[in-house]
Amino acid sequence: MHRFTALFLVCLMLLSLTACGSAPAPGSDGPSQPEAPAQAETPETDAPAEPEPEPEPEPEPYTILDPTVQPKGGVRNGVTYVPYDGVVEHLFFHPVVAYPELAFDGDYKSDGIDDWMVTAGEYLKILQSVYEKGYVLVDIADCWSEQTNEAGETRMVKNTLYLPEGKKPLILSYDDVNYYEYMLTNGFTYKLIIGNDGKLWSWGLDPQGKEVISRDLDAVTILDKFVEEHPDFSPFGAKGCLSLTGYEGILGYRTQTDRENWTPEREANRQKEIEAVKPIVAELKRTGWTFGSHTWGHISLNTRTYETVTADMQKWFDEVGSLVGETPVLFYPFGGRLDGDDVKQSGPAFQWMQQHGFRIFCSVGINSWSKCKSDISAVICDRLHPDGTTLRGSDKVLSWYSQFYDARDIIDLDVRPDRGVKWTPKD
Ligand SMILES: [Zn+2]
Repeated sequence: MHRFTALFLVCLMLLSLTACGSAPAPGSDGPSQPEAPAQAETPETDAPAEPEPEPEPEPEPYTILDPTVQPKGGVRNGVTYVPYDGVVEHLFFHPVVAYPELAFDGDYKSDGIDDWMVTAGEYLKILQSVYEKGYVLVDIADCWSEQTNEAGETRMVKNTLYLPEGKKPLILSYDDVNYYEYMLTNGFTYKLIIGNDGKLWSWGLDPQGKEVISRDLDAVTILDKFVEEHPDFSPFGAKGCLSLTGYEGILGYRTQTDRENWTPEREANRQKEIEAVKPIVAELKRTGWTFGSHTWGHISLNTRTYETVTADMQKWFDEVGSLVGETPVLFYPFGGRLDGDDVKQSGPAFQWMQQHGFRIFCSVGINSWSKCKSDISAVICDRLHPDGTTLRGSDKVLSWYSQFYDARDIIDLDVRPDRGVKWTPKD
């Protein structure tokens, strides 16, 4: 049942490429560069020069702790920590909709955004609900570690976590945190920036075209703010793992190459964007965010050839890994499992990824299933997906999410398109 439904979801995702941007056409190196809207390309260049450079604000100290280490005496800051060996839940989001009126304006992207995204308001309600239900954030890379067995082989094993008594662990991951060109005109923020206070803010344009710098419109800054207000939601300082492609740059900065029409001007702009994104990456890492790969071209790993997959990933290492550093986590685009199957086999592309440092391979499913493989040092896992498809889902779908929230309390039917719901109303 579980596998069947996961495959069904993958098929759904293949049918609607909208959520993750257009996938590159087969045989191409990536989508051709769409014309950016006038305001979208390096929006700050035309801004008036700053009068005086403000002194760099001192960043507030941020502590990151290892959840696999029990605090001395079992108590830290008056909180008792106890061992936990149960399921580690894993929810993933796409970028959240900042302006529903732009996202759901009836154009050809509307239904895809409705299917695969949540709004900023829905996202905040989900965070509030999982917090109230006793979940605490853990980093995905802390949940398993590599050990050498009696035969001298390295294998991944699930870690014991030491959690505040009564709490349950939750991994959050975020796919396609690239601020794709199509998103900029469809109700999403444009990029992350560092504000005058040294914190991360989002930059973008509202439906009237007015510049908006906010911490309430973007999945990253909303979680940052939520953890500031509820520090016990993240007892170890963990936030989420950001899953990045490379074909339209990262985090709203156009750091990618493009084989077509490359000019010295475009390369100079690319270098400028690379320099601009570095402090953003550093601040994310400093405040508990980590990074994973989503392939360079958002390619379907279940159907592409070994040659295509490895060439694409080399490009990811060159253009994205070089900026965010090494990562053990690979998030499958469209949930497509490597070599068509990574459960029964560890195929050639899976082995290549493992040899290139990946240990945690994430697909999509109906629960937080995970399996440490016996033939190779790797763990494969599924993630649940709060989005329009599951918020509108049947009573059965709602039951998969009931431990986190009641979808009927979360979905904002006032701003989403009128596409119906499958669940039974309350009362
Ligand atoms: Zn994706």
